Amino acid sequence: MDNPKITRYAPTPSGFLHLGNIYSFVLTYHTAKKENAKILLRIDDLDKERTKPKFLKDIFETLDFMEIPYDLGPKNVKEFQNSFSQFKRLEKYKETLQLLKDKHVLFACDCSRNKILKMDKRGFYSGFCRNRKLGFDSSEMAWRIMTPDQEEIGLNDYTGTRVSGRMPGILKDFVVRKKDGLPSYQLSSLVDDLYFGVNLIVRGRDLYGSSLAQIFLSQYLEKNSFSASAFLHHPILKDQKGQKLSKSAGSSSIQHLRKSGKKKSDIYTTLANYLGLKGEFKKLDDFSVLVR
Ligand SMILES: [Zn+2]
Repeated sequence: MDNPKITRYAPTPSGFLHLGNIYSFVLTYHTAKKENAKILLRIDDLDKERTKPKFLKDIFETLDFMEIPYDLGPKNVKEFQNSFSQFKRLEKYKETLQLLKDKHVLFACDCSRNKILKMDKRGFYSGFCRNRKLGFDSSEMAWRIMTPDQEEIGLNDYTGTRVSGRMPGILKDFVVRKKDGLPSYQLSSLVDDLYFGVNLIVRGRDLYGSSLAQIFLSQYLEKNSFSASAFLHHPILKDQKGQKLSKSAGSSSIQHLRKSGKKKSDIYTTLANYLGLKGEFKKLDDFSVLVR
């Protein structure tokens, strides 16, 4: 029997949720509905500097306000902190890092961001520390994984086709453990998706490179079910000027829209306008046309 399908909403509590997040949730919801998949709410809070309680609270309030349901994961801030925070899974990340280290595919790197930029204006890592044999356990040491330059990495597109691509330059020898000792996004995201059994991933096209990086990483793990996951990479919602809706651009945040008197139905209508959809779009179920 096939594993049950599980997908997820994965907002980061480093800004108020905006229309771009709602678009991603709407797509995830309808994809799950079509595929008979369960939805997990996964919140990444490892980045202590950027994670703020008000943003964490906002995730629950906004999902509630927009009436966007999910099946698995925390129902409120308290449940999140008690059982679902990434800090509860530090051991898991550590185990995975150790396993990678034992396979001799990692190397230690003490390069600063400035140094990397000096060596390559685009910020692509040159592989400078690959053969320097720096000690993994020295302080302020990042751990990187050796990535191939030419090899194509394959993934299952949601539509059923097998696609493949090369790791983007910005992810060459990407970091798996940051200088502060915490796992990087690529590592924690992979470990979390495996931990929760996520096998249907809906995310923005801006994370296509991350999908390749995580599939590449997963080949070293014992439980390599991740590479069999299906991926849907959706376009990034842009504003009328063609700018990406960023978290700092407050005007598209749901909090802002609510404060200016907008109701749930108004916000869905605004989203539909952004997407160029014609017709009546006042609630989540009206968007089933997005997933065929
Ligand atoms: Zn280095």
